[in-house]
Amino acid sequence: MKRCRKIRHPEIVMDAPPARFQSETLDALRRRLPDYLAARGVEPRRMGARLVGRCPNPSHEDSNPSFAVFGANHEICGCYPCDFRGDVFALSQWLGHASTFPEAVADVAAVLGISWEGGRP
Ligand SMILES: [Zn+2]
Repeated sequence: MKRCRKIRHPEIVMDAPPARFQSETLDALRRRLPDYLAARGVEPRRMGARLVGRCPNPSHEDSNPSFAVFGANHEICGCYPCDFRGDVFALSQWLGHASTFPEAVADVAAVLGISWEGGRP
């Protein structure tokens, strides 16, 4: 039987309920921050080593893009006027898509279309 080889991100396997995630799984999700932003309607553009775009905070009328994605793997983001800085899980909570860390992990996985091994956590 032939197997489909078109798996987009085979390095990420959601291996356990959020409270018991492996740190490698969380790190793999952190590196998907630019994809998470794109899925949330923010498409940051490259500016030097950073990616810069409009702030996704609806209460911040960001006409001069001040939201930045940085870090060695583009795994950290922040908005100076909003005084926010954090990883993809902090971003999920900051934007109100999750109120706890496990909820944020579930939100990020769902937005990125990553399914859980063995079904929903
Ligand atoms: Zn902002």
